[in-house]
Amino acid sequence: MTERREQLRDHIERLAIAYGLISVNGNARSPIKVFKNLRACPDCHEFAKHVSLVTGHEIIIRDSRRFHHFKEWKCSCNDY
Ligand SMILES: [Zn+2]
Ligand SMILES: [Zn+2]
Repeated sequence: MTERREQLRDHIERLAIAYGLISVNGNARSPIKVFKNLRACPDCHEFAKHVSLVTGHEIIIRDSRRFHHFKEWKCSCNDY
C-alpha cells in the first residue's frame, strides 16, 4: 500500500475547497464541487463538514469511491 506517500499529497481537496470558496464569493448559495481521484481522508472530510456549516455552502466532493454531499455539518455518506 502507499498510504504514507498518499498522505503527503492527498489534501488537495482542502485547497480546492478554499479556492472554491473564493470563486463563489458573492454568490452565497452556490455549491462547491471538488473532484479528486483518491479517497477523501477523514481530516478533509471533517474540514468540509466544518466549511459547509460555517459558510452555508453545500460542498460536493467526488472521490474514488462515492459522492460526499456536505450540508450543515452532515454528509450524505454518514461519516463512513
Ligand atoms: Zn486530506
Ligand atoms: Zn462523506
